[in-house]
Amino acid sequence: MPTALLWFRRDLRLADHPALLDAREAAGPGGAVLPLFVFDPRLWGPSGLPRRQFLLDCLADLGGQVDGALVLRSGDPARVVPDLAREVDAVSVHVSADTGVYGRQRDAAVERALGDVPLVRTGSPYAVTPGRVTKSDGTPFRVFSPFARAWREHGRRAPAPRPGSVPWSTGVRSEDPPEVPGLDGVRLPPAGEAAASAAWRTFRAERLEGYRTTRNTPGTDGTSRLSAYLKYGCVHPRTLLADLDDLDTDSADSFRNELCWRDFYADVLWHRPESAREPLDERMRAMTYDTGPDADARFAAWAQGRTGYPIVDAGMRQLLGEAYVHNRVRMIVASFLVKDLHVDWRRGARYFMQHLVDGDLASNNHGWQWVAGTGTDASPYHRVFNPTRQGKEFDPDGDYVRRWVPELRDVPARYVHEPWLAPDGVPGGYPLPVVDHAEERRVALERYEQVRER
Ligand code: FAD
Repeated sequence: MPTALLWFRRDLRLADHPALLDAREAAGPGGAVLPLFVFDPRLWGPSGLPRRQFLLDCLADLGGQVDGALVLRSGDPARVVPDLAREVDAVSVHVSADTGVYGRQRDAAVERALGDVPLVRTGSPYAVTPGRVTKSDGTPFRVFSPFARAWREHGRRAPAPRPGSVPWSTGVRSEDPPEVPGLDGVRLPPAGEAAASAAWRTFRAERLEGYRTTRNTPGTDGTSRLSAYLKYGCVHPRTLLADLDDLDTDSADSFRNELCWRDFYADVLWHRPESAREPLDERMRAMTYDTGPDADARFAAWAQGRTGYPIVDAGMRQLLGEAYVHNRVRMIVASFLVKDLHVDWRRGARYFMQHLVDGDLASNNHGWQWVAGTGTDASPYHRVFNPTRQGKEFDPDGDYVRRWVPELRDVPARYVHEPWLAPDGVPGGYPLPVVDHAEERRVALERYEQVRER
């Protein structure tokens, strides 16, 4: 029986899955599709525990959807995939294209090792595949707004129909998945395709209308919380965008814009793979950051949510509690690490990747670079977030802070973002600020001036 291999990666769903449709067609009438997932040590090793656990949960869901036919294997895909293709005499191997730095190299190696069996790439995890939106002279965009205009005009393919039935190939040996140590109280979202579409339906019906404003208030449940599902492809952004096509509101537009940021950062990484490690803005490579025991101690206070700045501490504790941080607060905590504590953004980005369930190289690194002023456009280095002012503006009643920093639960709203001013003093057990924001802002700007003058 002709067998087409469908190698799942960041596309753990059956709906709107063009590569699945291609695999079914390649298998032909009377043929079968063999679903495969490979635990690649190069990706599994550096993934933090929340992402590992969430991935396993998504795979358990996917396994159920393919009638238990999902084959799990571990090892270097350049060996595992061709071995399995030979084992089942596959006519072709189908994937959704991976446009990431490592994924491209890995797929090229797999393709070479497959020899005569074609590796067919169909679609990608993005609404518009990275590299497709360019300026009229063919060069890439470096700035978001013109990219967004071109992205909107580019058009996208319609969502692919969910196949009625797929003849899954069964009886092929699968391995046990790797073990994940206990997560110590981290609350992960429910995994898988059905959970993703339920999350989307609830958001669309109940929260999208006010999204334009509530997306900035971490104390309210104002955003979609779809990032982990998008990361693992439990839902495709094209499906979401198509579902918004008939909605001409500011909030729908704002949501489209956020999905566009996701595509933009993937596009930047596609064109500039070195930006996974280096500041995108070459001038900023001369920026100096602190290292050594003092910097380590400040980093530890930040990581544990014990800086004495309530909104920063709430964000870092949300990260440890839910493997997630609200977007506004990601910006605040990132700015604090880089500009108040003078620690290299790469250290913070690595820490995020260890702890975020939605940790994604393109969005995370470029999110950090945006805040650190080393990246694409927008936030220039001299724009330094004031954590107290940000707290007062975006968490005016202190709901978010109180949720994550129980020591401050009884502090009146007036002082919740600056408890050191409270008449009763800082509540027991909560630290005083580890640094003085005004002073560190001055230091940060001084260092920036030195870089500019070089
Ligand atoms: P919503 O507001 O509901 O947005 C919908 C979707 O749009 C998100 O799920 C996400 O896929 C996309 N999106 C929204 N904002 C952004 C953005 N600024 N950049 C790129 N995509 C965006 N996002 C990740 O998915 N993974 C990361 O590792 C990550 N790291 C970040 C690090 C920093 C320092 C910063 C400032 C931002 C980071 N973001 C990251 C972007 C953003 O914070 C999250 O996507 C968002 O908070 C997820 O929550 P949500 O799904 O409720 O978002």
